[in-house]
Amino acid sequence: MKIIDAHMHYFNIEGFDELAKLADHENSRKGWQDICEANGIVFSVAMGNSDDAPCRFGGVAPRLINLGGEPFCETPYNQPDNVGYCLGVDSEAITPENAEKTAQEFEYYLQRDPHCVGIKFYMGYQNVYLYDARHEPLFELAKAYDVPVAMHSGETANHHGRLRYAHPLTVDEAASEHPDVRFVICHVGNPWIPDAIEVASKNENAFIDFSGLWEHRLTPKREQEIAAFRQYVRMWLEYHELWDKIMYGSDWPLVNIPDNIRNLGKIVPEEHWNEFYYENALRVYSRIQKLGQ
Ligand SMILES: [Zn+2]
Repeated sequence: MKIIDAHMHYFNIEGFDELAKLADHENSRKGWQDICEANGIVFSVAMGNSDDAPCRFGGVAPRLINLGGEPFCETPYNQPDNVGYCLGVDSEAITPENAEKTAQEFEYYLQRDPHCVGIKFYMGYQNVYLYDARHEPLFELAKAYDVPVAMHSGETANHHGRLRYAHPLTVDEAASEHPDVRFVICHVGNPWIPDAIEVASKNENAFIDFSGLWEHRLTPKREQEIAAFRQYVRMWLEYHELWDKIMYGSDWPLVNIPDNIRNLGKIVPEEHWNEFYYENALRVYSRIQKLGQ
């Protein structure tokens, strides 16, 4: 089975090396390539990993969240062909005055780099709504370059942000206003799962990735504990028959990849695996097709 991982991280910010060990992985370029080979992952999308763009082309946009770093981003640039990335938006730094300029700076990467496959927003980490007017020029950019807008949705890993910004219903506002832009609700909006599924069901241009629903290596006991959760998510998917809107994602290095593939395979019925693990991501992150996948 061919897999596209529509949401992973490809950097070594503080703590990620340790988290990778808890998931039985090594947080490194080689670690990721070995995992891809062993698990049939043919392409992956690194979220907010924009340091690779400056490596390749010089210059960093100031309102671009810069999450790259050694050993993933090397000079001269040599990121593997099977890893694309979304530009990360530092929403709190965007003002009415610099909003247009921000989009121009982001365009620099979209124009030059076919591996730049989307734009990532960090609601819940950043205290700004997705539908805030300051994001308008970036939505226009996404439309012009036919790339999706992905939004962190649901619980957060730190205490800085406010959860109300991360609610999946906020994606309904933006998706309704911008029918020509594809929106991705990351993490199924966990724990607002029926809400996320409803937004994707209602809006033709809204999609969901299933990254980061658990972390670390799962013990048999833990797999047992999440059985009811898996069943709950499956129930809502089956109710809405939402098979063309859902994408496999991991949040690597936070999760163990074989565990993750196996457990998400219990949420999605086998007859929809090809859509879930591969085809839907090709449509949403459409630039991946041009990269030969
Ligand atoms: Zn993530």
